[in-house]
Amino acid sequence: MLELKGITKKYEIGAFKQTALNHIDVVFRDNEFVAVLGPSGSGKTTLLNMIGGLDRYDSGDILIDGKSTKHFHDHQWDAYRNHAIGFVFQNYNLITHISVLANVELGMTLSGMHQEERRKRALEVLEKVGLKEHVHKKPNQLSGGQMQRVAIARALANDPQIILADEPTGAIDSETSAQIMNLIQEIAKDKLVIMVTHDQSIANKYANRVIALKDGEITSDSRSFKTAENDHIKLAFKKTSMAFKQALTLSFNNLKTKKFRTLITAFAGSIGIIGVALVLSLANGTNQEIDRLERTTLAEFPIQIDPIPFDLEAARQGPLAGIDDQDGWEKFPTVNRIFPYERTQPETQHINNITNDYLAHLEIMDESLYNQLSIARRVNMNLLKQQSDGEIINVNTSRINFSETLSKPSFFDENYDLLYGQSPQNMNEALLVVDEYNRLNINILNAFGLSDNQDYSFEDFLTMSLKIAPPDAYYQFNETTERYQINSDLEGFFDSTDGIDLEIVGIARVKEESLSSFLSTGLKHH
Ligand code: ADP
Ligand code: MG
Repeated sequence: MLELKGITKKYEIGAFKQTALNHIDVVFRDNEFVAVLGPSGSGKTTLLNMIGGLDRYDSGDILIDGKSTKHFHDHQWDAYRNHAIGFVFQNYNLITHISVLANVELGMTLSGMHQEERRKRALEVLEKVGLKEHVHKKPNQLSGGQMQRVAIARALANDPQIILADEPTGAIDSETSAQIMNLIQEIAKDKLVIMVTHDQSIANKYANRVIALKDGEITSDSRSFKTAENDHIKLAFKKTSMAFKQALTLSFNNLKTKKFRTLITAFAGSIGIIGVALVLSLANGTNQEIDRLERTTLAEFPIQIDPIPFDLEAARQGPLAGIDDQDGWEKFPTVNRIFPYERTQPETQHINNITNDYLAHLEIMDESLYNQLSIARRVNMNLLKQQSDGEIINVNTSRINFSETLSKPSFFDENYDLLYGQSPQNMNEALLVVDEYNRLNINILNAFGLSDNQDYSFEDFLTMSLKIAPPDAYYQFNETTERYQINSDLEGFFDSTDGIDLEIVGIARVKEESLSSFLSTGLKHH
């Protein structure tokens, strides 16, 4: 049971004090659907923030299961917020560049659940909200109604007793709103749902209790509830798991400034990982467990700066790639085969101008600030391949994502498995990176002059006959046109010593347990 007693909250704007909530007294049942109705500025959001522990009241008390929160420590608020409350916001607050599934899993990061358990639970709640078919999409590939379903799934993931929703249908058309409201109504069957709305008809239609607010005061309550009548009702909060407590004590207690801590933990509690990652890194993770959590969570969200984001994105397959037609593909297959597949290209967004100065800056950056740094430089050069019938073709190196990786050696070892062959040792040796389904985009296959309607053995790639053509030998001066032109005798060139043999010496794939997949599929060399 949740009880607010004389809750007052004022905001100071310069010399002026705005009273957002004025002596609010209200008791909520453990299981009811409450709509908080009121005009803009009446204090609805402030009320939810107080209830959710996102902000502190100035005076009064909030009793949780009869227990005063007046002297709650921050970690108690954290526990309450992370385990007892699920938040749903008008603007969804989803992380747009990761999948729907990842968004929901992130909400559970502080729950102390194992990764497999989190995934299982995330899939369950996503199915419950009707998004089973869309779990691998990214939020921006969904409609507003679907995004709100993701947010609801995220709020449900930890199985909290209380769901707080701030204008959940405020940004959604009325037909979709009805579906969302039906879903919330369904959820309210065994939880306390407190939903803010300014829409009287929604409040009346779906909620079983309507509380009206005006100027920070309750002006009416359709089904008020007195403590005395029902003080046997208990809101039993689940025990927080050990890992969770440990994480909280270790990370949050180490933080220095209190204000900052409140802000960050509120953030962590409300949306999940971004805050967590920040919190944990601020806690200067001396503890191994924290350090590990920090690594894995951050590895999932590397700060990635690509020159042409759409291009690498199109070729990259991995957790960050969102949907990639995974249906029917076996993940991490054990056969030594490579399969073609086609991928639709996302649209171009912008181009990053990555300068040498910028790279130099990265190189001298304080190493304690990051766990891993990986730089891949695209290498565009003239690459020739001799087909099995002897024909010489030009391999477009940008289409095969030919790049030079300048990562710390550990980056590759930690995140990639060598499936076949060996790691490149010499300048003229390269590695072929396939995705987690052993696939190569048909663009890459075609660039190698290979058909995309069959699959290939690893050996097919290792025995490929490739030659880098240095410009001075590849281009010849033509006396008549007085221009440099591509050597017309490619066969002669291929047989001469002018070219540099390029050998694919190994096949690599992102590790099953690795969360990071920096390398695009295609050809890599050191
Ligand atoms: P509602 O959600 O009903 O629109 P709010 O709870 O957001 O209302 O706001 C209630 C009052 O408190 C408003 O007058 C608003 O301007 C003020 N207020 C809310 N948050 C802040 C803040 N962070 N700083 C200053 N004033 C605020
Ligand atoms: Mg509001």
